Amino acid sequence: MTKAKNIAIYGKGGIGKSTTTSNISAALADSGLKVIQIGCDPKSDSTNNLRGGKSIPTVLDAIRSGKKIEIADIVYEGFGGVLCIEAGGPEPGVGCAGRGIIAAIELLRQKKVFEQYDPDVVLYDVLGDVVCGGFSVPIREGVAEQVYTVTSADFMAVYAANNLFKGIKKYANSGGALFSGIIANSVALPIQREIIDDFASQTGTTIAEYVPRSVTIIRSELRGQTAVEYDPDSEQAEVYRRLAKAIVTNEKKYVPAPLEAENLKTWAESWSDRLLEKKDDESSVRTPETASPAT
Ligand code: ADP
Ligand code: MG
Repeated sequence: MTKAKNIAIYGKGGIGKSTTTSNISAALADSGLKVIQIGCDPKSDSTNNLRGGKSIPTVLDAIRSGKKIEIADIVYEGFGGVLCIEAGGPEPGVGCAGRGIIAAIELLRQKKVFEQYDPDVVLYDVLGDVVCGGFSVPIREGVAEQVYTVTSADFMAVYAANNLFKGIKKYANSGGALFSGIIANSVALPIQREIIDDFASQTGTTIAEYVPRSVTIIRSELRGQTAVEYDPDSEQAEVYRRLAKAIVTNEKKYVPAPLEAENLKTWAESWSDRLLEKKDDESSVRTPETASPAT
């Protein structure tokens, strides 16, 4: 059995984790690697675009059914042979959302899924805006060795990334995963790149890739596909292939230097002042969510 590269991709809800992770999986599978993608978000749609836009039953659902669980109940094949797993979540309003991750990882180990499939790469797509025990499992328990975060230039996304850095730092001395890079997503304006670059330099972190906001993603998603599958010749697909290659070859791991709450606030205010100074102020302050696609 080869030693798999275990990578966790964190970020705030709606920031583009699943889009990015699925495109990385698709690109890696295309290059001949065996990939497992594990959705660790109660939304349970991490792998949809690897499977024609359709959801798969989750590990927590399988556990809740009370029936004997077979590997085939929780592992589904997607584009390029990527194995898709969704941890799932609790019923709304009941229990900790991170519980699905703990249960899923335990079950996959019990069922010897990793031994059986012998993957080259395992990607964990993890919701990262909640600082709770369950969501830090991939960092704490020797599950992943390397962590990336997807962030845009929006303050709430940066705030979530900074929180993730605090989590990594906390467990770094007890065998926890280390940080390997920021994936700057939805970059449509130069100022957004500047903001993310500055945040990276303030926190002693590096940028793995800049992913533009792109209409190719919107179109691919409407077909239930990744850009790598739907439009392999597009610039967007090329960006994901480059990112995928960077991630499998990147051995760089380090402890980030998160900003203290007060410093993060001061940092945000300094950008607010700079944005105000800009003549093109109006267009600069639009969030990537409301800005029109660049391509
Ligand atoms: P998350 O998994 O972090 O909750 P998703 O990957 O589901 O977020 O993305 C949320 C929405 O943003 C989706 O509709 C997705 O198509 C869109 N999106 C993400 N990244 C991009 C991008 N680079 N360009 C255009 N749309 C994007
Ligand atoms: Mg998602």
